[in-house]
Amino acid sequence: MIALQTAPPPVNESDAGRLARDLYGIEAQAELLPGERDRNFRLRTSDGRDYVLKIIDPASDEVIQDCQTQVLRHLAEQAPTLPVPRIVQGLDGRAVTRGLIAGIAYDCRVVPFMPGVLAAQRRLEARSLEVIGRTLAMLDRALAGFFHPALAQRIVWDVRQAPALLKYIDYLDSNADRKLARLALNGLSARLGAVRALRSQAVHGDCHPRNLLLDATGEQCVGILDFGDMIHAPLVFEPAVAMAEFLAEGVADSARIPELLAGYTTLQRLPGAAVELIYEIVTARLATNLLIHGWRSRHDPAGAREVADSVARATESLELLASRGRALCSAEWHRAAGTSASTPAITLGMSSPESAGTDAELLERRQRLMGANAELFYERPLHLVRGAGVWVYTAAGERFLDVYNNVPHVGHAHPHVVRAIHAQASRIASNTRYLDRTVLNYAERLTATLPEGLDCCLFVNSGSEANDIAWRIACASSGRGGALVMQHAYHGITEAVTALSPALRPESPPHVECLIAPPADAGPDARRAIDALAARGFGLAAFMIDSALTSNGIYDPSPEWLEPVVSAVRAAGGLVIGDEVQYGLGRSGSHFWGFERRGYVPDIVTLGKPVGNGYPLGVVVTRRSILEAFQKQTGFFSTFGGNPVAAAAGLAVLEVMEREQLMANALSTGTHFRSLLAELAQSQRGLGEVRGHGLLLGVEVIDEQARPAPQRAKRIINGLRERGVLIGGEGPAGNVLKLRPPMCFGPEHAQRVTDTLREVLADPRLAG
Ligand code: PMP
Repeated sequence: MIALQTAPPPVNESDAGRLARDLYGIEAQAELLPGERDRNFRLRTSDGRDYVLKIIDPASDEVIQDCQTQVLRHLAEQAPTLPVPRIVQGLDGRAVTRGLIAGIAYDCRVVPFMPGVLAAQRRLEARSLEVIGRTLAMLDRALAGFFHPALAQRIVWDVRQAPALLKYIDYLDSNADRKLARLALNGLSARLGAVRALRSQAVHGDCHPRNLLLDATGEQCVGILDFGDMIHAPLVFEPAVAMAEFLAEGVADSARIPELLAGYTTLQRLPGAAVELIYEIVTARLATNLLIHGWRSRHDPAGAREVADSVARATESLELLASRGRALCSAEWHRAAGTSASTPAITLGMSSPESAGTDAELLERRQRLMGANAELFYERPLHLVRGAGVWVYTAAGERFLDVYNNVPHVGHAHPHVVRAIHAQASRIASNTRYLDRTVLNYAERLTATLPEGLDCCLFVNSGSEANDIAWRIACASSGRGGALVMQHAYHGITEAVTALSPALRPESPPHVECLIAPPADAGPDARRAIDALAARGFGLAAFMIDSALTSNGIYDPSPEWLEPVVSAVRAAGGLVIGDEVQYGLGRSGSHFWGFERRGYVPDIVTLGKPVGNGYPLGVVVTRRSILEAFQKQTGFFSTFGGNPVAAAAGLAVLEVMEREQLMANALSTGTHFRSLLAELAQSQRGLGEVRGHGLLLGVEVIDEQARPAPQRAKRIINGLRERGVLIGGEGPAGNVLKLRPPMCFGPEHAQRVTDTLREVLADPRLAG
């Protein structure tokens, strides 16, 4: 096996200058650069050209040298924009030339000097890690078609060889280190068959932070160096080795390291089975670092001392990974890669950056086929092709943090929900006129979360339909036709519900009265409104309220605020309809249902958006007596409502909520997020009140006179979009930033949104 050669060729700067002149015709000053195996010199010419001369380690195999030449040629042809060295030919027309120093022949090669900062020289932010991940993915896409016999080289750094290093275990001084290394290598041995079964190809294999260059901002990877350790190996080795080495170099901590994987999988998807093995690969690579260092300490103490720091960090990283455990690390990495243990390998047909140019075409087609007034988010619309957890991906391979969508309640494309939908659709997709267990299981599980008495379900396909039916039920059961709603409420799109949505229809029809929204006191207003309806001949059928008061601008009043309204409604014989389309399923963090947070129990509950995680599903839940009376009157049936596939989705959502403790996450992350935003709002002009609770938050955007500033809000929303964060606007004036992410949104995402918002606010274009 090829191990580390410890002493580079003894060539000095004047020899190097002479070789550059004689072999390449480059007249330059030579300056020694660090190098582990080769002896490297920087060559600066007087006319400003800049090269690196490599005097190749004489122990290096010619076949491996040829592999490096061929791969650089391949990459120059296949991926001309990729930041890898380009070959400078010698005067003899060869990529590798031979020169004599003190009678000894040395092979040399020259490449242009690549400016940039070594990734090893700074502590890397999430964005840099992501960018590095993507660049490695681009490299691997370009390497897919490359082959060379040298890729079969057996090198000690190939993780598959790591178990053979167990024989050096006694070179490690401490018992604890021996235990850690043994654990890692045994872990890998146990899964080596699965590792070998993964899709393999040519990989760089050694993307550690001293082989990667970043630009000054850290937002671009401008160099991938050293193709000397290339092997034919499982594709996942590329990001996994980088992850291990970034940890060992201490340039990224374990909380940030998933960003590298996330960036990589944006452009180069990995099957779940590969991500599942990253733990073994990373720990084995770290153990390899330890053992090679142990070996070196015996055979090359000076060389070993040079890398002592990074070996100490490798040990710390191994310790940390072992204490966090395989399950937790793997879950985090799956989240970053958008996979689960069973996600199949899918290649993204549309994910290459080259496909970005098609958005204009899509826009034109869309206008032709869907009308020019069909709503679109953002000044530069997004062409989304994939989602995973809190992330969405465009056709061009860009990744966005989704802080807007509550429909993918438990996360985009959650594997448990996808599997449930797939399994049921592969069995039968019928309707509720047949007996079916799935829909009953769902109804049981759902009503178990609701207060006693709210025990009977009617299934539809959307929030609008649920509210439409709830309203019809209220009218039928009360024999009246008057409604109370909040000012600027939104409840949906049907004719009847549009009448109950002053956000769409500021002039309410005669059977509807609006109540003033928080922070104003709606209690006294309720009596006035009921009397006004009566004066027009309408008895009160129902009061409908979105407990999150979303379209009002995301308010979170205490139960005392609503209590007098509910009392007045009940005294007038009206029903209370709790529209949980926004706040249901634990979004407030404190309560599973929004009405619980507001301190009332509705007579009818309506559900939509989040309940199917994207599969159309709406539910009306009420008392059995009310529902049975309504069904008798109308003989209600909806073809798709409550079909077993929708029910399977609904059930899976409730299961994930419980398994992943997402309501508790909404509380802890939401509270943290709110305090980050409040802190930012205090320090920034132009941000007002921060409102809401859990994972439904609003931030007011105001002008110098504290008036709503909707245009500025719009610019902020678009500015965030340009920086990879998706949010929306809300409120009667449209000046409230709406933050309503999937429930798996974590504190690291909250930090990212806050940091990005701070950046956007500092952008001088915002004022324009
Ligand atoms: N009620 C509320 C509170 C809503 O926010 C919405 C949708 N924004 C609806 C009802 C209507 O739901 P859908 O769009 O599924 O018809």
